[in-house]
Amino acid sequence: MRNTDVVVVGAGPIGSMIAKGLSKSGLSVILIDKKTIVGKDACSGLISSRLSEFVTVSDAFLLNKVYGSTFHSPSFSFSIKRDIPQAFVVDRPKFDRFMLDKAISSGVTFLNNTAFIDFKRESSGMDVSSGMDVSSSMDVSSGITISTSSGEISSKIIIGADGAASRVRRVSGLKGTLKSVNGIIAYFDGNLGSDLVDVYYNNLFSKDFFAWRIPRGTTLEVGLASGENHIENFKSFIKQLGLSYPEKVFMHPISYGTQETATDNIILAGDAAAQVKPFTGGGIIYGFICAQIAIQAIVKAFEKEDFSEMFLIDNYDTVWKTKLLDKIEVGLGIRNILDSLNNDELDTFFKMLSESKESLEDVGDMDFL
Ligand SMILES: Cc1cc2nc3c(=O)[nH]c(=O)nc-3n(C[C@H](O)[C@H](O)[C@H](O)COP(=O)(O)OP(=O)(O)OC[C@H]3O[C@@H](n4cnc5c(N)ncnc54)[C@H](O)[C@@H]3O)c2cc1C
Repeated sequence: MRNTDVVVVGAGPIGSMIAKGLSKSGLSVILIDKKTIVGKDACSGLISSRLSEFVTVSDAFLLNKVYGSTFHSPSFSFSIKRDIPQAFVVDRPKFDRFMLDKAISSGVTFLNNTAFIDFKRESSGMDVSSGMDVSSSMDVSSGITISTSSGEISSKIIIGADGAASRVRRVSGLKGTLKSVNGIIAYFDGNLGSDLVDVYYNNLFSKDFFAWRIPRGTTLEVGLASGENHIENFKSFIKQLGLSYPEKVFMHPISYGTQETATDNIILAGDAAAQVKPFTGGGIIYGFICAQIAIQAIVKAFEKEDFSEMFLIDNYDTVWKTKLLDKIEVGLGIRNILDSLNNDELDTFFKMLSESKESLEDVGDMDFL
């Protein structure tokens, strides 16, 4: 059996960032991913300019910069634009590999083809598979053994950064109130000659989310997310844009809502923790903000040798929620309003919003409403 201080499950951008931060703090870290080749292909990679607060934005993954958005309701459009770039468009597989390489060069041991399966707390008396507490005094700091498709690993703490359909979340019993939609994207040759992202609200093809077009430099991404019939909806959206249905599409779920994120020896991070903007489905900036908090909390847990639920809630779950939960709740409120509107009401809503165009251009923020 391997031994380490920390196991991070999932080498997406959030897992790689946490693994790197912990390794640089002197902890031994094993980062596992079920994939052979890491890199999410079903993501638009549109990340606000805040990205540069977390990583050096590099030509290794940068495709384009965008300056604003054009919003389209069924029969109305308006644009919000600034003079300086508002967001980067990154090549997600390259970005993920870049983040992983940084983690590996900081001393993280990376195991690919290694799927997290389950865990058992060591000598705590808590067998999570059965859910029965057979111990009267639980020694939560004693550690945890995880079983993976490549064997067992013993550690003090697990970070579940395994994405929207997180298995760590499921087997740890952490509760949440999550909604899920299916995202679907495809790439087309050519560019729009535009430096704006197009956002479409129309119940004909994206009733409970929205659709988009993103200029990626020499190519164009078209995508949408919806709760039901996402492939049929995508076909109808593609047709409306006058494009032919592509040979290759990429799909992945988006989960958003509120989620418990800490229990004895375990925390969740990134999409697994629903650190996601409900009004766009974007999770990279919220995930990076919470990754910094996770690193500090875990370093402190090792200093105090306390991996208990209470310690991890106080130092991680409560801290990130103090920073972001109100934003997530506002986003959920806006999402609920938009989802409830018919096409005429969507036109009215966006016409009203366009009357605040100047103030949106002044103070609008794609991460924080
Ligand atoms: C269509 C679409 C478009 C999007 N566009 C944007 C956007 O423009 N901007 C933005 O900010 N966000 C966007 N998102 C959301 C963004 O992709 C996520 O927020 C981001 O990937 C979260 O990173 P993560 O590291 O938490 O999880 P992920 O990137 O999902 O990484 C999770 C990793 O865990 C691994 N894993 C899963 N299960 C296991 C297991 N059992 N054992 C081991 N490894 C496992 C996976 O292989 C994966 O590598 C989009 C999502 C979709 C679906």
